[in-house]
Amino acid sequence: MDGILLIKKIGIIGGGISGLVVSIFLAKEGHQVSIFEKKSLLSETSSKTTKLLHGGLRYLENFHIKEVQKGLNDRYWWLKNFPQHTNKIKILIPYKNLFSLELLKFYIGIKFYGFLAGKKKLGKSKLYIKEVFQDINLDSDYKGYLSFFDGLMDDELLGKDLIHLAKELKINLYENHEVSNFDIYGNIDNKKFDKVILAVGPWTKILLEKNKIKSLKNIDYIKGSHLILNRKINSGLMFKGFCQSRYVFALPYKEFTLLGTTEVKVRSPDKPKIDTNEENYLIDSFNQTFRDPISSKDIISAYSGVRPLIRSKYDFHKSSRDFFIQQDSNLISIFGGKWTTSPSIARKIATIV
Ligand SMILES: Cc1cc2nc3c(=O)[nH]c(=O)nc-3n(C[C@H](O)[C@H](O)[C@H](O)COP(=O)(O)OP(=O)(O)OC[C@H]3O[C@@H](n4cnc5c(N)ncnc54)[C@H](O)[C@@H]3O)c2cc1C
Repeated sequence: MDGILLIKKIGIIGGGISGLVVSIFLAKEGHQVSIFEKKSLLSETSSKTTKLLHGGLRYLENFHIKEVQKGLNDRYWWLKNFPQHTNKIKILIPYKNLFSLELLKFYIGIKFYGFLAGKKKLGKSKLYIKEVFQDINLDSDYKGYLSFFDGLMDDELLGKDLIHLAKELKINLYENHEVSNFDIYGNIDNKKFDKVILAVGPWTKILLEKNKIKSLKNIDYIKGSHLILNRKINSGLMFKGFCQSRYVFALPYKEFTLLGTTEVKVRSPDKPKIDTNEENYLIDSFNQTFRDPISSKDIISAYSGVRPLIRSKYDFHKSSRDFFIQQDSNLISIFGGKWTTSPSIARKIATIV
């Protein structure tokens, strides 16, 4: 049978970025694909991100090297294939002391990040000493910046393009269609498929167990919230949050600033909402870094999403963002991942379908 493509009927449960990108890759291989989405496409976790296309510079701190490399490869894929809704962005890391261990650590990290990207590197990193960026009004304690490049997306327009592409590829898109039952033999609510793909983001373990299928992974539900501020910045900034152990991004977003994110363990992925502590944390983080302080009056809007982090022996702040694929006969279940790495998830699934 070598060389003959067997066209399969594939049912995907969940229309977030993972389900959508997997459906596109499989439809391009000639398979007949249907997506069943409980709400509307891309309306849950996939619309609550920091909008970065990245390998995750800060994950290098925990030596998640393969994961970072996968992300850098996929970052390039997005920028190359969807240049109209993605761009590279220079991100500045401000520092207070030129001779600190922390700055040295970042310098090495950034150089290694560039090395891992190889030919897919987006630009040269740089150390700025005593240089002031006019548009960034930082606290006077800061002495300069380190810079590196990552990708940024307009997730709304990019999402619209992907849905349009899915329609062109004749993928059946069923929205407002909650799946109640599925099994490992290819059934979704009494419809029969050759393969079923469970792409329900943070709900994977819950839905597997509801359908009496063992989940190979335990999940921590970590809420992350963002604020959209009535401020304009032109460069991206990555700086220490108020807790001093994690980092926060301030990124240009339309005419405003996108500020995030937090990491709060929650019990359920349903209906995440920013709480007062998170709002204060983000405001305090901003105010300890920028000279011109903000208050809650400067918040235009806020949104929250839940990361399904695969539980490890480490503290959840250090958990990997990598994905895991579980296979049970004709059922393929996706755990974790990032928006950026959805093409890697799709490539992997294409090899096992
Ligand atoms: C705060 C935060 C910031 C992030 N920032 C970034 C970033 O900057 N860059 C990046 O690359 N990644 C980022 N991520 C990660 C990224 O958001 C996720 O990896 C990605 O969105 C997951 O997509 P998904 O399709 O797996 O899940 P989802 O987008 O949650 O999609 C799952 C879908 O399944 C549906 N569903 C659930 N149950 C059923 C059912 N019974 N029947 C039918 N459908 C069902 C849901 O309605 C949902 O639409 C961030 C995540 C968070 C939480």
